[in-house]
Amino acid sequence: MEERANRLLSPATALRVALVVFVLAWIFGPYALRSAVPILLVFLIALGLELNFLISALRSTPSPRPDRRPQDVDRERYGYDHETDDLVLVRRGDEEVWVAYSGESAEELEALLADVDDWPEEADEPAAVGLEQRRSSAPVRRFLVGLGVIGVLGLAIWFVESRTGWDSLAADTRTEAVKRFSDEASRIAEKPVTIYCDESGDFVGAVQHADGVAEVGGDHAYLTPEICLDLYRLAFENELTGSQTGRALAVVAHEAWHLRGVSDEGTTECYALQSGVEIGRRLGLSEGTARQLMRQQLTENALRGRGSFEYLVPPECRDGGRLDLDPGSTRFP
Ligand SMILES: [Zn+2]
Repeated sequence: MEERANRLLSPATALRVALVVFVLAWIFGPYALRSAVPILLVFLIALGLELNFLISALRSTPSPRPDRRPQDVDRERYGYDHETDDLVLVRRGDEEVWVAYSGESAEELEALLADVDDWPEEADEPAAVGLEQRRSSAPVRRFLVGLGVIGVLGLAIWFVESRTGWDSLAADTRTEAVKRFSDEASRIAEKPVTIYCDESGDFVGAVQHADGVAEVGGDHAYLTPEICLDLYRLAFENELTGSQTGRALAVVAHEAWHLRGVSDEGTTECYALQSGVEIGRRLGLSEGTARQLMRQQLTENALRGRGSFEYLVPPECRDGGRLDLDPGSTRFP
C-alpha cells in the first residue's frame, strides 16, 4: 500500500501538497505558528526543492526499458501467443528480436527472422521523436507548475496579510495606536518611553526569536506587528483574541520593565505578568479577564520554561513571594 502511495505521489507533488497544507495552516492556524515560522523561508525552501527536482530531472537520461522480456505488444506483432513456445532473443544487426523457438533448426530460425523483416516498418519514428521532446520538456513544465503553485500561495498570503495585518491599518491609526502603547509602557517604566512596531522585521520577529526587544534602562522598545495588532484590537476594537491578547499584554509589559532597568529575564517576566493585569484593564478588559489571561501566561511560562530556562520565572514569583509587586493582596497575578 505504501509503495503504491509513493508511486501516486511523486516527491514534487508531495512537496506541493505539503506547501499548500502548511500555508493554509499558517493563514488559518494558531498565531504561534505564524510568529514562529518565517513564511518567506518556507517559500525559499520550496523554491530550492523545485529547482533541485528540475536539475536532477534534466540530468537523468530517460532510463532504458528495464524489462528485457518480450512485451505483449511484441508477442502480438510477431504473432506468438502467451502460452506456447519458448522465446529466444536473437541479435539482428544492432537490434534484438524475440522469436518463438520450438526446437527449430538454425535454418528455420533464419526463415522466421526473414519473416520478421517483412513486417512493415511501423510509423513509430516520429512518435518516438515526439516522445523524446516531451521527455525533455516535462521537467521544465513541472518546474513551471511548481513556480505557479508557489506564486499563487505567495499572493494568497500577501492578500490575507494586506487585509488583516497590522500593515493594513491606516497610517494615522497606527500612529495613534503606537502612542497609546507608548503611554502604557511609560507608566510601567516610570519615565517617557516610545514603543515602535517593527514593520520591517529588522529588530524583532521570528528570526530574532523575540516578540519584543528593549535595551535595559533605555527609552524605546520594538514589538512585532503581530503583537501590535493584538494590542490594537483590544484597545481600539474591543476585540479579545484569547491567549494571543494575553501574550501581547505580557510582551509590552515585559519590554517596559526592561526599559525601567530590570535586566534579569525571569524577574522581568514575573513583573510583566503582574503589570499586564493593569495594562489589560486600562485597554478595556475586565479585571477578572485580565487576571485570568495573565495567570494563563504564567502557566504557559512554566511549560515554555522547560525549553528556554532563561525566561522561566523564578520560584519567588508567587503570591507573597519576593517578586510579588502587591504583597498586600492575595491575588496573583
Ligand atoms: Zn526580555
